Order: sequence, then structure tokens, then C-alpha cells
Amino acid sequence: KLMHAFVMRTPQGQRGWEARANAILPGGVNSPVRAWNAVGGQSLPIASANGAIVTDAAGGAYVDLVGSWGAAIAGHANPKVVSAVTRAAKRGLSFGATTEAEVELAELIRDRYAPAERVRLVSTGTEATMTALRLARGATGRDVVIKFAGHYHGHADPFLVAAGSGLATAGAPDSAGVTASTAADTMVLPYGDVDALTGAFAQHGERIAAVIAEGAPCNMGVVRPPDGFNRLIGELTRNEGAVFILDEVLTGFRAGPAGWWGIERDVALAKGEQPWVPDLVTFGKVIGGGLPVASVAGRADLMEQLAPLGPVYQAGTLSGNPVAVAAGLATLDIMDADAYATLARAADEVREGVHEALLASGVTHAVGRAGTLFSFFLGLDEPPVTFADAARQDTGLFRSLFRHMRAEGVSLPPSAFEAWFVSIAHESPITRQIVDAAGSWRPNERA
Ligand code: PLP
Repeated sequence: KLMHAFVMRTPQGQRGWEARANAILPGGVNSPVRAWNAVGGQSLPIASANGAIVTDAAGGAYVDLVGSWGAAIAGHANPKVVSAVTRAAKRGLSFGATTEAEVELAELIRDRYAPAERVRLVSTGTEATMTALRLARGATGRDVVIKFAGHYHGHADPFLVAAGSGLATAGAPDSAGVTASTAADTMVLPYGDVDALTGAFAQHGERIAAVIAEGAPCNMGVVRPPDGFNRLIGELTRNEGAVFILDEVLTGFRAGPAGWWGIERDVALAKGEQPWVPDLVTFGKVIGGGLPVASVAGRADLMEQLAPLGPVYQAGTLSGNPVAVAAGLATLDIMDADAYATLARAADEVREGVHEALLASGVTHAVGRAGTLFSFFLGLDEPPVTFADAARQDTGLFRSLFRHMRAEGVSLPPSAFEAWFVSIAHESPITRQIVDAAGSWRPNERA
């Protein structure tokens, strides 16, 4: 039942495969983290995936905790999604003109996520954040964007900038090919640092077009935003005429039904407070259900600055692609209240179970959690807030855990800085298998 179908690998065959991939794809991959540089080794090509199980070309089956980096929330090849995609494909793959389904998906996003008053569909999270920043700059007539160290917003140039130390320092490029002048318009601050943020606004308020933050940071491991920090960003940006861009590409429709924002909204409402509201928000991953759909959304007056209504240009041949939109619609349709309860149960079982298992084995660790998202910081006593703290985790220990879990038939994300993604298909006994695998890890077998 658990599909423990391990097939003997021929090392020869695997080496042949790697050589072929490396000879044509830089690093053998089309996105760097897939190269397993942080954990060593290399995955065989994936042949298929179903539910919570991913199967490689040699027939090796693994419980999958990568989940297409968050998109596969309904489980791989969910039959409802596959049949919606098949039906859409038969009606035509792409028209370059608007369909009713696009309007329906945009309405669904707005209905579940109130700050999304207007929605523009794009194809990737990178496009969404890139567009959001251009929109913020166009609307404010200002240049500077504040981002937080350790937050990932895709690979557009202004976001590929690492932390300069100290308050409000102009960042240095984090990638070759990002010009110094681009980096100069990005200020990188330590996450959760109230003084750094208020100081940056006090000093440079008139130049700041936008502050961008992940709803909850999930690309330095999973970090719960410090209480009040998102609210503070909202207040400062509003008072200073800047735009608050909340990046929910990863957390949207996953951390909870209304993303990370919905979790803070509910806390505020329970306390009788007015919830804070982002000006712009970006989505991706879940809203495409495994096909390329992402979006920038937000306040109507800002969104209406976009072409063709306004002066901020943005476009895409494949934007709102009908097949991709069908996958997104079917996925959000599956994700009703019951499905979110199932997702939360899966997350709780794995997070709590692995935590207990690590405790029992005497492994120092901290659990990072934001709604149904979680990761483990090995070697840390406390969940981190800043990237500097997150970076102190023991990545060598993670490498050992990763390899052990693979040997036990569980595929973790190949980096200590990634969330462990569950889906509604991760039900017991699959969650049990994950916990048992973690329980049999002996960390002194360090790889
Ligand atoms: N923003 C966040 C928070 C992300 O996690 C990601 C991808 O992991 C992106 C943006 C970029 O999305 P994409 O990879 O679709 O370009």
C-alpha cells in the first residue's frame, strides 16, 4: 500500500543519465535547487507522481515533501485537476484572448482574499513580484524598494540583492549580472527589526516606493512573523505614501485558506482589532495547481494603473492560459473547508511527529511554523526570525537527515532552508511513514 517499490539502480545507468543531462542543461537542471548541491548526490529523473508519492525513472517510489515547491496542494495528479485540464486542453491550448475561466479564477481569488480587489494573472511568481514593484514605482514616482534579508521574491533583478549590514544600507548584488545601479535601489533590512524599518523610513521615507515581505518567510526555513511586524509595515507604508507588497506566492491559499494574511486577519478580528491590509499581494504556486499561473492583485486604484487602463505596462502571451487556469480553478475548488482541515491535519501529524522523534533521539532543533507550513532548524534552540539566525542552523546535520529519509523512502526538499510541503493526500499511514523514518535517524551517521 505504501508503494515501497524500490527497484535496483544500475549505477551505470544513473551515471549515463547525469552525463546526458549535464551535457545539455547547465548543471543538469532548469532551476538550481533541483541540482541537490546542498545535500549531495542527484535525483534520478522523475517519471510520475500520484497523490503523495513520486516515482523516479528506475521505479523508486518516495513519499514526496517537495510538492512542486508548494503547488501540489491537492496531491499529485489529482483526478479532478487532471480531468479539468484535459477538458480545457480539448477546447484549445491558448488563444491570446480573454476567456470566462480567467474571470472566474480572478473572482475566486478575490472572494477568498478580500485585499485582492483587482487581479492580473501572470505565469510565474517572479513575474508577479516584478510587476508589483513596477506598479508601486509607477504609482508613487519613487525608486527604492525595501526587502528583508532571507526573503525570496523570485529572480527579477531588484530582488536578487543580499543584505548589506547595518541600517538601510544599499544592497550589493546577490547574482552576477545584476547591475550596481539596480542594487542601489534595493535596501535590505534584517527581518523583524522594528528599529531598522522605522529608521529607514525616517531617513529615506520620500524615496521609498515599496516594502515587500513574504507573508510569512518560507525561503529561509519557515519563520513566523513577529507579532505586529506586518501591521507595522502596513502603518509605515500608509503614513509615508509607500506601497506594501505582501508576497504570498508560497503562503497564499496554503498557510491557511486566505494565506498568511488570513491567519493574522482572524487573530485581529478575534481581538476586536481592525486587520491590517496589504496594498498589493502576489500569488503563485497553489493558484495554478501545478501549471504556470500566478497573479498580482490588490487595491483597485493601484491595480487600475496597469495597462491598458493606466501608464504601468505589463503583458504576457501566455497570461491567463486556459489550460493553466483550469488547473488553478479545479485546485481551488478542491480546497474547501474540509480540504483545509485535511491539510492542517497532515501538517500537524508530520510536524508534531517529527518533532517528537527528533526530541526522542536527542537532536537539538527548533520547529519553524506558519499555519500549515513548517520546517526544522537542526542545531538551533529557538526558532529564528532573522536570516542571520536561520543561517546558524546545522546544514551538515540536515544533509544527514535528508540522506537517511531518502533511504527510508521519503523525499525531503533538498535544502535546510525550504519548507516541508504536505498535501491533502498526505494522510495516515503516509504521515506515519514520514515520522517513523525520522525516528530511525541516528544523527551521528553524519554524511
Ligand atoms: N515569491 C516567493 C515567496 C516564492 O517562494 C517564490 C518561489 O519559490 C517566488 C516568489 C517566485 O516564484 P516563481 O518560482 O514561480 O517565479
